Amino acid sequence: MGIIKPKYAIALHGGAGTILRNKITPAEEANYMHTLADCLKVGQLLLAAGSDALSAVVATTIALENTPLFNAGKGSVFTHTGGHEMDAAIMCGQSLKAGAVAGVSRIKNPIELAQAVMQNSQHVFLSGGGAEAFAATQNIPVETDDYFFDAYRFKQWQQVKNTGITQLDHADEKKFGTVGCVAFDVNGNLAAATSTGGMTNKQYGRIGDTPIIGAGTYANNNTCAVSCTGHGEYFIRAVVAYDISCLMEYRGLTLQQACDKVVKDKLLQMGGEGGVIAIDKNGQIEMTFNSEGMYRACANDTQSTVAIYS
Ligand code: ASP
Repeated sequence: MGIIKPKYAIALHGGAGTILRNKITPAEEANYMHTLADCLKVGQLLLAAGSDALSAVVATTIALENTPLFNAGKGSVFTHTGGHEMDAAIMCGQSLKAGAVAGVSRIKNPIELAQAVMQNSQHVFLSGGGAEAFAATQNIPVETDDYFFDAYRFKQWQQVKNTGITQLDHADEKKFGTVGCVAFDVNGNLAAATSTGGMTNKQYGRIGDTPIIGAGTYANNNTCAVSCTGHGEYFIRAVVAYDISCLMEYRGLTLQQACDKVVKDKLLQMGGEGGVIAIDKNGQIEMTFNSEGMYRACANDTQSTVAIYS
């Protein structure tokens, strides 16, 4: 039986990890579920109205960055020095253009800055002070430290700040709260976006997989769009997003086979925990993870799903 190609499709994640049912109250769970659904709606409505995949992934990622529930934008984790250093990347599957920023502070929506790098600079990847100086030329909104302060993230950091431990978002639950979105639009174009605060207590200057094109984020109209979440050091070494695309392009695997191979086989063997959301050129969606759960949601023109656990 042939596949049913939807008019459009979208998927998002709010991080993967050891998300255990008995650690989350029903009220917290409901909050996560309706927030994921609300953020999904943002991109879904755009795609249904004929917007392009890039606009949909940016708008959805901004919505995710603006909620303190996830480790990106507002709600980003604390670094070892008590600040916030955020990473983000975007890629257009049609043009293969990409934009990324790493180690930025005060930028309200890092994904917006990554998009500006892609569209308005001669470069693909800007970091730290250089990225912030570029943001000032683009009228990208900035916020004070107060905006990024979150009591829960602060408590997480206090627990590990003198231990030398670099922690993935949540100690007890080992949760990766990065956000991301992939989309397939009515013209068959793909796009991917990912944004993160990285890891609690991370060393000054540490950069994870999120802003690295091919590791945490990738899109190519010939294959798929991918956004990752998990232990970044492993995702960088496994070049996860591009590997999924390559397995489709050069080995002829389906999206599901490629995601399973990379996430449940290769990454697992290396000890890398986490997951991916991905959409192929026919609008088929995969949300694959090797952890207990992944905050995720997806939709096309006929159905939608919101889920946390496996
Ligand atoms: N991948 C992110 C990083 O290593 C963390 C996450 O997914 O939450 O920076």
